[in-house]
Amino acid sequence: MRTFKLLIDGQLVDGASTLDVINPATGEVLSACPRASAAQAEKAIAAARKAFPAWSARPWKERSALLLKIADALEGAIGELSPLLTQEQGKPRFGADFEVHESARILRIFAAMEMEDKVLHSGPDGRAIETRSPLGVVAAITPWNFPLILLCNKLGPGLLTGNTMVLKPAPTTPLTTLVLGEICQRLLPPGVVNTIVDQNDLGPLLTQHPDIAKVAFTGSTATGRKVMASSADSLKRLTLELGGNDAAIVLDDADPAEVAPKIFMGAMFNSGQICAAIKRVYVADSLYDAMCEQLAQIASATVVGDGLDPNTQMGPIQNKVQFEKVKSYLDEARTRGKVLAGGKPLERPGYFIPPTIVRDIPDESRLVQEEQFGPVLPIMRFSDLDDAVARANNSEYGLCGSVWGKDGQRAFEVARRMHSGTVWVNKTLEINPNYPFRGAKQSGIGTELGLAGLEEYTQAKVINVAA
Ligand code: NAD
Repeated sequence: MRTFKLLIDGQLVDGASTLDVINPATGEVLSACPRASAAQAEKAIAAARKAFPAWSARPWKERSALLLKIADALEGAIGELSPLLTQEQGKPRFGADFEVHESARILRIFAAMEMEDKVLHSGPDGRAIETRSPLGVVAAITPWNFPLILLCNKLGPGLLTGNTMVLKPAPTTPLTTLVLGEICQRLLPPGVVNTIVDQNDLGPLLTQHPDIAKVAFTGSTATGRKVMASSADSLKRLTLELGGNDAAIVLDDADPAEVAPKIFMGAMFNSGQICAAIKRVYVADSLYDAMCEQLAQIASATVVGDGLDPNTQMGPIQNKVQFEKVKSYLDEARTRGKVLAGGKPLERPGYFIPPTIVRDIPDESRLVQEEQFGPVLPIMRFSDLDDAVARANNSEYGLCGSVWGKDGQRAFEVARRMHSGTVWVNKTLEINPNYPFRGAKQSGIGTELGLAGLEEYTQAKVINVAA
């Protein structure tokens, strides 16, 4: 394994210390990784601040062209990035390839966006124009489930609009972010992008810092609350993309054989470690047994293993803390519900939990109420549609949701009633970078992706001119 460096002020540098990155498929150390000190974080912020005037003055088209170059370089490095992502995150190679390509696609989609001045009024009495300008230094703080995609969701709009950035990945998946930093070092002026790695200790430094104008955060709702509190003093701009406990409602006219594979994928892709994954399923009474049966069959046939093995369909849980958490849901599933497939961690090194299907578990159970963020799916029964909608909405979360049924219009009307930022009908997990993505309730604040997401990296200003 080669060495990795932080990127601070255009220089690839060692950390003040190191931390070990664990391969979740083996439980063993994959690589040492540089760890930044508070002084290095300060240096990164100062470098970004110094780089801001020149970068924000560059024409939009030049920044867009540089984003395209980063996208090309990312895809050009897929031979290194994809296996590295598999080894630090756990996902199978096809998932890692997807993530690298999708990250490049996100950057390209942003690079194509334009932000024109809006004419609010124009007449004999004068005109009013709304313009937008960049904010300054943006801190991008990301979690461990999609280290590259979630970073590019921030890097694309942040750079395009003229901000400079300090990127801080999760301590368990920092390596691919550092490779992206190397790419930025080759392509961008010093200080425009900086990468620092911490051991969950430098987040507050970033979120409180007077020279950080905006925090773009993706992570858990618990940490999101801390970010919001600590950035209150300087009233920072915030985007919080937080947790979810997304419900799927399967209506009585759905075909179990047709929808079960899609629901399974929506719940289990990336070993269930997706904010927008299906995390609980409500099935109409008449289809309940058939749906449970179909899902259990697919789960039992799934090949779980090291993501580097080309036969693997599902990799491990990303880290030990999360592994222990998901195991506690398995314990509950066995005692309060009926486990149809999976149910026990694999007896091998690494953090493996097979896809687990649980039926007849009460709504009050932790598995239904909380965000499991792992491959353990509870299936509940309903006989009254209003009741199903109420139960789906009975959550502090409101990220996404899905409705399944042959009558598309009826399913659409049910989708309207769900309290979430995105609801899919007869599909799931289609996160399109052209569409705004946002959480309702405690799933987040603000918008990521789409033109609305781009605007969140800017300050709007109305210029009101007399005739
Ligand atoms: P986490 O909240 O533990 O960590 C996220 C990031 O925050 C990490 O980089 C971490 O180092 C940093 N952090 C920790 N303490 C901090 C503090 N006090 N101040 C600032 N930053 C701090 O989340 P996780 O466990 O890495 O990720 C899983 C969670 O992320 C799940 O809840 C999932 O639903 C959510 N998520 C949400 C989205 C979305 O778009 N809504 C996408 C992916 C994941």
